[in-house]
Amino acid sequence: MFDIKIIGGSIVDGDGVEAYEANIAIKDGIIVEVGDCTGDAANTIDAGGAIVTPGFIDLHTHYDGQISWDEEMKPSINHGVTTIVMGNCGVGFAPCRKTDHEKLIKLMEGVEDIPGTALAEGLTWDWESFPQYMDALDAIPNTLDFLAMVPHDPLRVFVMGDRAVFNEQATKADIKAMHDLTSEALAAGAVGFSTGRSDAHRSADGEWTPTSEAHPDELAGIAKAFNGFDYGVLHAVNDFDQERPGDQFEQEFDILETYFRAAPGHKASMTWMQRDLVPDHWKKIMKRAEDLQKDGVDLRLQAAPRGIGLFLGLQSTFHPLMAFPSYIEIADLSFEERVARLSDPILKEKMLSETPIKLAGTGTSVPPMTDIMIAMTEQIAGKMFKLSPDGSGKVDYEQGYVSSAAAEAERKGVSVWSVLYDWMLEDDGKMLIYFRSIIIRI
Ligand SMILES: [Zn+2]
Repeated sequence: MFDIKIIGGSIVDGDGVEAYEANIAIKDGIIVEVGDCTGDAANTIDAGGAIVTPGFIDLHTHYDGQISWDEEMKPSINHGVTTIVMGNCGVGFAPCRKTDHEKLIKLMEGVEDIPGTALAEGLTWDWESFPQYMDALDAIPNTLDFLAMVPHDPLRVFVMGDRAVFNEQATKADIKAMHDLTSEALAAGAVGFSTGRSDAHRSADGEWTPTSEAHPDELAGIAKAFNGFDYGVLHAVNDFDQERPGDQFEQEFDILETYFRAAPGHKASMTWMQRDLVPDHWKKIMKRAEDLQKDGVDLRLQAAPRGIGLFLGLQSTFHPLMAFPSYIEIADLSFEERVARLSDPILKEKMLSETPIKLAGTGTSVPPMTDIMIAMTEQIAGKMFKLSPDGSGKVDYEQGYVSSAAAEAERKGVSVWSVLYDWMLEDDGKMLIYFRSIIIRI
């Protein structure tokens, strides 16, 4: 007698073998048979027509806030994810003093586009220290397992206060304090430490993230906290200053190398992407990672299973029209009013005869990348698609050039701006444009 039988599914077991049809029997929480499973079961699940797989581990999430108030962890749980890793990109919510709550919410809002109001209403803030954060998460049930990394940004703000956000270098005493707090967090069960060096990441006030320019001594000083522990991963994201003039790749990677080498025997990992502005960086990252591997530094690269993209539309934070003067005039109107105004062909003609202005700058969360993307719209329109190409609501992330805005403009003999304008008005103004901004090549 089994507890559960899952019958009729197509099993993809993760070993790399072809999918196969079989039943699965579970007793006392353990899979006891894969095959016919002829015995009875208290509960039988018919998986006919579905794939049955082990749970997925999502290595890169930003559930650091949601996990404090949400037991279900949707949508990951619906996607078959059973373990998540949090604290990526150096952002998160612990450690945090009572006076810094808003600062960290603005940081997460700017970096990950998670609405600040949702965070402000949801976060329970039952903690100051990282160990207290872990206790708070343990106190509520969760549908999935989670691993928390110590995020560099909150740690730096906790130790350095306002000095952390104004690009000041950490003193020896600051570094010692960050080291000791990381050690305390690892002892409390943190799975690692993460830092973010991306210029595209800004707080909602437009400030640089506190750690984007951290000195290698600071990173190495913190990494030394791992020595003495037999677990712990050093994580990093870095865009290698792609938006700035000159190629900073080698010196930025040198900084990461110093960081990774400061905790010998520990694993290191970093996000691995190909970006439009620097299309060959992924090869350089691979070469330096392989060199480090040969030299005994266990650096693993993390690539996403599909390209990373942005959703652009009239209900989104960003979209291609947002820098046109005629759009800026109506930008503060309600969604319905904007859709009505934009539907006027006279406004369309006027807007598209204008030149977009620059949006990024002091006091705005708009990253300089937005201006670059808008300026490059004609070149990148081959990677812009309607998220739901047939308008049915069914999304397609893997469309080819033929359904891009560039191809549509060629077919119609109009500008890509005209195509994007019309697309955004489809579905009563709710159509999302999927811009596949980063390609993953393995
Ligand atoms: Zn991230």
